[in-house]
Amino acid sequence: MSALSKPEIQMFRKQLRDREMDLRKAIHASLLNSDNKDYSEVAGRVLDIGEQSLVDLLADFHIIELEKEVAELADVEAAVARITAGTYGQCADCGVDIDVERLRIYPTARRCTECQMRHERMAKDMTPSL
Ligand SMILES: [Zn+2]
Repeated sequence: MSALSKPEIQMFRKQLRDREMDLRKAIHASLLNSDNKDYSEVAGRVLDIGEQSLVDLLADFHIIELEKEVAELADVEAAVARITAGTYGQCADCGVDIDVERLRIYPTARRCTECQMRHERMAKDMTPSL
């Protein structure tokens, strides 16, 4: 059971939905501005298709310029899915309730501060040196 109250969860859901819309609009605009014909075709679908299919669709195209937006969109989708599943606000690694202040700053946070730091250290260690 999450420590977040219902109104708090609703607020986060709204915040995440708003962010999702912003990202969709930004992705849409970038695709339309591209010279690539395939991208303009994708742009027509960005605003209407379901969240998960959008992330998959964009991932298929490997659009380098949009990598950050697509990654964030995937994070936002995952957070909304956690709200639906009732696990939002719980650390994915240790299961503690994530600090509400942390969620206010990073509504897509999936780990508590400690686990996130440990995770980032590990990710850094695993990055192959060229
Ligand atoms: Zn944790």
